[in-house]
Amino acid sequence: MPNEAHLLPAWALLAYLAAGVLFILALRGLSSPATARAGNRYGILGMAIAVATTLITHEVASLVEIAVAVVIGAVIGLVIARRIAMTAMPQLVAAFHSLVGLAAVCVAAAAYVNPVAFGIAAADGSILGVSRVEMSLGSAIGAITFSGSVIAFLKLNGNMSGSPILLPTRHVLNGLILLGILGLIGYFLRDQSPWVFWTLTGLAFAIGFLLIIPIGGADMPVVVSMLNSYSGWAAAAMGFTLHNTAMIITGALVGSSGAILSYIMCRAMNRSFIGVISGGFGAADGAGAAAAKTDRPWKRGSAEDAAFLMKEANQVIVIPGYGMAVAQAQHALREMGDKLKEHGVKVKYAIHPVAGRMPGHMNVLLAEASVPYDEVFELDDINSEFAQTDVAFVIGANDVVNPAAKTDKSSPIYGMPVFDVQKAKTVFFVKRSMGGVGYSGIDNELFYMDQTIMLLADAKKMVEDIVKAL
Ligand code: NDP
Repeated sequence: MPNEAHLLPAWALLAYLAAGVLFILALRGLSSPATARAGNRYGILGMAIAVATTLITHEVASLVEIAVAVVIGAVIGLVIARRIAMTAMPQLVAAFHSLVGLAAVCVAAAAYVNPVAFGIAAADGSILGVSRVEMSLGSAIGAITFSGSVIAFLKLNGNMSGSPILLPTRHVLNGLILLGILGLIGYFLRDQSPWVFWTLTGLAFAIGFLLIIPIGGADMPVVVSMLNSYSGWAAAAMGFTLHNTAMIITGALVGSSGAILSYIMCRAMNRSFIGVISGGFGAADGAGAAAAKTDRPWKRGSAEDAAFLMKEANQVIVIPGYGMAVAQAQHALREMGDKLKEHGVKVKYAIHPVAGRMPGHMNVLLAEASVPYDEVFELDDINSEFAQTDVAFVIGANDVVNPAAKTDKSSPIYGMPVFDVQKAKTVFFVKRSMGGVGYSGIDNELFYMDQTIMLLADAKKMVEDIVKAL
């Protein structure tokens, strides 16, 4: 059977190439908040070109049916995107990945059932060897992505406990199933019987569940980004089956960028990728939460105290975290920064790579509040400055400033790089109560240090009061 790509007109191949270039520009743009909007536009344009080219050059069943499906999908997508809280973004992304995985399985199944329509049948009607590899890989990776993403969604959305579920023989079981899937993919080259295709797909669905249930809540962001990568590889494999260059390029881009993001996040949390995949982190949550309730002396301050000390400071470094996002305190925070600058204080914002609940969470919120980009610094660029800083203003962050990550080997966050805020002359710590813990569920030594003043209130309310006092 001829390869359909060879039959496409030259303009269509060029259009797919243009779409690929636009996707690369989109990724490039998304790497900085200053260019993120332009990046998004490149992505939208690239996708529009790719979809239009596919619709024009392929004999599709009915354009009307496709248009109706697109409109229904677009309306659902728009409603979800408008309603979703920024803090619920990770589970939304997990839900979307599950659909990509399922789509890959559906395409592989359709190609398996009707190889002639997909142009992948040999003269004797059997499926071409190379297409068997592509479709079995696409179906297996798609099925793992689907079931893994469903578990990630349930854990992140609170429908399922975030604690790891550790089956005693899980490594042996997972190893056997993975070997079984690989063996069946090999056997599928010799025998294209339905039992081979469906068994390997079924085993892949099972391994998706089994791989993700032992992973604790704190490692979920890495898992979501890893599943993102899988969904890309599944799409790329199906792009080969469909002879669609745009899909191959897009799948490879999603697959490799997701893998790179997983690596960066593991490095930011000082976790090994293999360690994350084998699971178990977060099991100590309960013990840590109990530790937070011990009676130890600590100092409480007011908005007026904070305003007074910050006004007198040479430099204030603001460390935002998840609580700032929950309270939506970013606009009030920018106002506070403006007021301090009027008093001649230098204001900087320090962003940890895993602050909040998704990569770039804090950058997005600060950009939304028009905080100037040149006041926003990454961990490595600002950490040495705390020793020369008068005030560190921690607002809704907790784990990312917990010194236990450097000092306590038994801590579940041990080894994660954190801000050295305790080196500042004064630390203001905004949170709602002494009992509340961060994502990892552990106490924070910083609350009880001499230089720390606790500002207990909702983050937005506290910052608004400080602005008034200023
Ligand atoms: P944490 O989750 O460690 O801490 C959040 C803090 O905010 C708590 O001290 C909480 O205390 C406080 N808080 C909550 N609501 C409010 C409010 N309305 N007003 C004031 N304070 C509030 O946040 P960090 O950003 O420091 O750390 C992120 C953690 O999340 C890390 O452990 C990271 O690994 C994990 N993670 C990161 C993801 C990512 O991709 N960025 C995704 C998923 C998890 P209190 O309840 O007392 O108010």
